[in-house]
Amino acid sequence: MSHNPSWLDEGLPHIWLPYAQMQTSPKPLPVAHTHGSTITLANGTGILDGVSSWWSNCHGYNHPHIAKAMHAQLDAFPHVMFAGLAHEPAYTLAKKLAHIAPTGLTRSFFSDSGSTAVEVAMKMAVQHWKNKGQSKRNKFISFVNGYHGDTMGGMSLADPDGWVHKAFNHFMPKQFTMPIPSGEYGFADFRELLEGIHHTVAGMIIEPLVQGAGGFKFHSPDVLAELSNIAKEYGMLFIADEVMTGFGRTGYMFACNEAGITPDIMCLGKALTGGSIGLAVTMATEDVFEAFLSDSMDTAFLHGPTFMANPLACAAAVASLELFEAEPRLKQVAAIEMALEAGLAPARSMAHVVDVRIKGAIGVIELDNPGWNHMFALRTQALEKGCWLRPFANVLYIMPAFTISESELQKLIDVTLELVATPFTPQA
Ligand SMILES: *Cc1c(COP(=O)(O)O)cnc(C)c1O
Repeated sequence: MSHNPSWLDEGLPHIWLPYAQMQTSPKPLPVAHTHGSTITLANGTGILDGVSSWWSNCHGYNHPHIAKAMHAQLDAFPHVMFAGLAHEPAYTLAKKLAHIAPTGLTRSFFSDSGSTAVEVAMKMAVQHWKNKGQSKRNKFISFVNGYHGDTMGGMSLADPDGWVHKAFNHFMPKQFTMPIPSGEYGFADFRELLEGIHHTVAGMIIEPLVQGAGGFKFHSPDVLAELSNIAKEYGMLFIADEVMTGFGRTGYMFACNEAGITPDIMCLGKALTGGSIGLAVTMATEDVFEAFLSDSMDTAFLHGPTFMANPLACAAAVASLELFEAEPRLKQVAAIEMALEAGLAPARSMAHVVDVRIKGAIGVIELDNPGWNHMFALRTQALEKGCWLRPFANVLYIMPAFTISESELQKLIDVTLELVATPFTPQA
């Protein structure tokens, strides 16, 4: 990739990149423009996006309907504070979200990112119990292989052995992180773990059906429904972190829909604006909400990000939800699921493949201890073949925009299989 623009080399000494060893990290690729599932680089090369910009870009890049809504809002006003002032995009979005969310989730608290949506959920759960005179309920149950964002609260909920947060274990509030029941370790064992601690727990939080950045592990709708029952039984709030799964990714509008459950609190982000601009929301039931009502400020929910409910972002989100109504997104996800099932199946018999799993528009191939260097080499190899894929830890995955064409998806599948076939020696 020759002829880098001058801003890249001039700015790079002042940039700190995410999840990167800055001493050895390859130079990021300068982007000129995007369209559909293609990212065009400064030198004119188009690369096919299999990551949908960290799983957020569900309608393809630069969807004109979202762009139009954002332009109109920009002309009216890009931002006003959300305390004391109201604007149509946020109020319309809250009404729309209440309409499509699992029945009973009626209240929307807006924030800026998935991580803050999780922080808000935690504060909401803890203060909910305090307002009800149960301030001992201030811990959370979370799950092995989980990921809930990079801020303090969310990090404390993640798998303490996970690669992302290891450096901070000595710094974090302690929660109860448990395996999701499966196989030999069943619900009876899980209940046993709850004995003696459940009265200190404010909420149980889970990424429903598909755990994301913690390693892409799946569980069944039955397991999810049973966990929700158990939370209710022990008087904890059940919190669904649908930041990754929400808006069709698993084949239903929300993963909770497939299990037929309504969580007490639900976090949304990533695809909320169709991946166009940062916005997140924490939704709650009236039951959760009512615990904050009184004649005193002491029981009010005291949280309020400066750019809360940014009008540009809310306008983008309303437009994104309109696209879910007007265009056959869930059907597209079902077609992607079938193509991934058929296309990735040959990997099952390849060397060092531990598992191949598909759910909605998520295709995952898990390898046996490839080590980071091998995964980095695969990223480069994907790029040489014209694909933007980001294998990490021990997984290769495809999570495209739902609007990706059949032939584009096939190319991502073919290249992924070529990457999986690249020989390596498993790490000890
Ligand atoms: C990405 C993600 C988050 C964090 O969202 P950010 O917007 O990156 O802060 C939280 N939970 C889940 C399940 C996620 O996938």
